[in-house]
Amino acid sequence: MKKKILVTGGAGFLGSHLCERLLNEGNEVVCLDNYFTGQKSNVVHLLSNPYFEMIRHDVTMPFFIEVDEIYNLACPASPIHYQYNPIKTVKTSVMGAVNMLGLAKRIKAKILQASTSEVYGDPQIHPQTESYWGHVNPIGERACYDEGKRAAETLFVNYHKQNNVRIKIIRIFNTYGPRMHPNDGRVVSNFIVQALQGKDITIYGDGSQSRSFCYYSDLLDGMIKLMNTGDDFTGPVNVGNPNEFTILELAEKIIRLTGSSSKIIRQPLPSDDPMQRQPDITLAKSKLNWEPKIELEEGLIKTIDFFKTIVK
Ligand code: NAD
Ligand code: UDP
Repeated sequence: MKKKILVTGGAGFLGSHLCERLLNEGNEVVCLDNYFTGQKSNVVHLLSNPYFEMIRHDVTMPFFIEVDEIYNLACPASPIHYQYNPIKTVKTSVMGAVNMLGLAKRIKAKILQASTSEVYGDPQIHPQTESYWGHVNPIGERACYDEGKRAAETLFVNYHKQNNVRIKIIRIFNTYGPRMHPNDGRVVSNFIVQALQGKDITIYGDGSQSRSFCYYSDLLDGMIKLMNTGDDFTGPVNVGNPNEFTILELAEKIIRLTGSSSKIIRQPLPSDDPMQRQPDITLAKSKLNWEPKIELEEGLIKTIDFFKTIVK
């Protein structure tokens, strides 16, 4: 059955792929974005579809529409962008959640929150399970994002308990792929752009910190499966690829896959940069019947091909 679906942050990296997937599955999609980090060019190819609509709007302001489902992705995701205006980042997460949950309550829509592995902060248990409460500095450089996302989870759970809103919370671990912004500042896009341009590859710190990288199509499979679970399952559920790499290993892989002559240089490690991160996906496997299919090299090759088309 055709559903009418609102995607906030729909012009961003993940949001634009999500809009495309939902349209391809036969739904009607409304993409809402303020174009802070997203771009019209990510979704312009969808405009010829009569079941697709774009709306310029900021989620910190109330919004009214009739839909069946809401995917709430609006929020800058890269540390450079979310730290650019930290007050706005908190407002986007918290007021955005209040506005979208209020809408979901009023129109009885199901609503999914794009939460993050950052709710675990610089984790002291490894790998991270959903039951771990995290280790977040509430006044650090990352707090606007981490605490904003944590408060959003709190709001989601309380709208569910107090007002019976049907909620889903996905904790997304580092996800990459085509349509990441070339100046986004996240590690995969930075390294690929630097490698393709023959510039130095900037490793922050000694490169021994780790991340687990998930290809965007796997992530979206998990996200859509979560939205389609029964009302009794709310999450939070980790979705990410458990294969963990150090940042140095990532740099070396990208140099090899691009055939670049770039040199690795070291720059200072930003404060509160998590030392390690790896999802425990036992819950996603059992509740969503989901696990990632695309391993890092395969995903990097596709992502490098994308960047070759836009990087001069
Ligand atoms: P992105 O920056 O490409 O997309 C975010 C989108 O939200 C952009 O289009 C931006 O313009 C829009 N936006 C920002 N503030 C807004 C506001 N106030 N009102 C309306 N729109 C606004 O980032 P992404 O990687 O696509 O991330 C999408 C979501 O997934 C975010 O909520 C992010 O926190 C979450 N997430 C992503 C990752 C990842 O690795 N990609 C990891 C964890 C969580
Ligand atoms: N990083 C790096 N060089 C870069 C960009 C990032 O060494 O040019 C490191 C960063 O310090 C962090 C890791 O790569 O340890 C992942 O950074 P990203 O901003 O992609 O995501 P997050 O820290 O939010 O996981």
